[in-house]
Amino acid sequence: MMKDIATPIRTKAILEKYGFSFKKSLGQNFLIEPNVLNRIVDHANVTEKTGVIEIGPGIGALTEQLAKRAKKVVAFEIDQRLLPILADTLEPYPNVTVIHQDILDADIHHTIASEFDDCEEIMVVANLPYYVTTPIIMKLLEDKLPLKGIVVMLQKEVADRISAIPSTKEYGSLSIAIQYYTEAKTVMTVPKTVFMPQPNVDSAIIRLLVRDKPLVNVKDEAFFFQLVRASFAQRRKTLINNLVHFFPNGKELKTEIEEVLGTIGIDGRRRGESLSIPEFAKVSDALADIYQ
Ligand code: SAM
Repeated sequence: MMKDIATPIRTKAILEKYGFSFKKSLGQNFLIEPNVLNRIVDHANVTEKTGVIEIGPGIGALTEQLAKRAKKVVAFEIDQRLLPILADTLEPYPNVTVIHQDILDADIHHTIASEFDDCEEIMVVANLPYYVTTPIIMKLLEDKLPLKGIVVMLQKEVADRISAIPSTKEYGSLSIAIQYYTEAKTVMTVPKTVFMPQPNVDSAIIRLLVRDKPLVNVKDEAFFFQLVRASFAQRRKTLINNLVHFFPNGKELKTEIEEVLGTIGIDGRRRGESLSIPEFAKVSDALADIYQ
């Protein structure tokens, strides 16, 4: 029987057969450790009822493990050179479809409607290209796709920021943006040695379970996210000082902003990083009306 793709020996043989050279600019660090792949699939709870969207199948290491357990896998790969390799390595798995496209340009709603009508749940599972981790996760969430969750390998430092709690140095607008849509948990840290070639940074697997509705209900979502970003613009400054710079006529409005914060029990001398997501929602709703 053929060995799994994700072993050093088989990976090397595939790369040699096709004369494939890694493109650093595409974040190509392939997994060569079957145990890590199985842990990713376990954490995603993939079953024969699951439709899986994979981003960046590479030579198919994770795709193969997903295909063994899922109803169907649709994998988006940007690098055309990998298509003939994937056709070869994934030939034994008829439940896999590879789409040659940049995930950031993909109409994933359309893919879900056309590919997954016989699946009970949809998960995104991937070993992400690290140069584009955050835009990919934000696209998946902002597109408001009907996903159960997202289980991905990414830089440990980004995983720490995503799952951070208030008053820590990792907590920021990324933590809030992702926790607004999902319950986030880092489930495993992963050493560099399980990749070929080895990346420069440590890695982690994160699980994001998509909430039925966002964590907080805000009047104006776009304003909420702008205000959150502004509140972290200069981390060492107080909330009020960051807000004064956020409002176009902030200097004139300083006293008014302070009064509004007072009415909702938020001291403007606190730092943005100390506010919980429900507190940011309160600030956003209270200030939306005076923002011009
Ligand atoms: N899944 C494979 C594995 O675990 O061995 C490869 C993972 S590698 C970290 C990232 C993969 O994403 C590469 O195959 C790369 O070509 C692909 N990729 C990079 N940018 C992409 C994008 N914008 N859209 C789709 N795929 C992309």
